[in-house]
Amino acid sequence: MLRFTETEKGNAVLNYNCYQYTKKRENKKSNQWRCRDRNCSSTISLCSQDLSIIKNETTHTCAQDTNKFIIDTIIGRMQKRTREETATIPKIYSQEIVKARVENPGLPTGSLFPTLSNIDASLYRRRAINYPKLPTTINEISLNGSWKLDKNGGDFLLVDETYETDRLMIFGSQWSICLYAD
Ligand SMILES: [Zn+2]
Repeated sequence: MLRFTETEKGNAVLNYNCYQYTKKRENKKSNQWRCRDRNCSSTISLCSQDLSIIKNETTHTCAQDTNKFIIDTIIGRMQKRTREETATIPKIYSQEIVKARVENPGLPTGSLFPTLSNIDASLYRRRAINYPKLPTTINEISLNGSWKLDKNGGDFLLVDETYETDRLMIFGSQWSICLYAD
């Protein structure tokens, strides 16, 4: 089975038969992938859509590793959740580690997985791509687009008015307004 994960930089990694490969060359009708272990010269060729093997892998001089795919998959999940959710990064990290333990009972997660302090810088970088910079003054607070909406896409920022140096912002969902009106 051909399975794909990502490198830290977001490039595709092919996982096949307990080896990992990165793309070396795209030809017209095939893609050549090379072993991710740069001391190993094994290559494998896939079709141009990377759906099937055209030429089997040449002999590896490196060792097979079943855990790399699992680790990259878990890290990929952490990265995805970091981009899409607002939960804190330590929380996402611990939840995904627990999930990894449950899904892979024999895996020594403690020694295999990066620690939170080893991975959090890269997770915070990913979060920063989708989240605006924190304002340092009241005037810098600028809510636009989806930042003004609630989880259901309804208006959440009801009032935004400035009085000299003060600013009044009132937040509420349609649901909460109805509740108060009743
Ligand atoms: Zn290899």
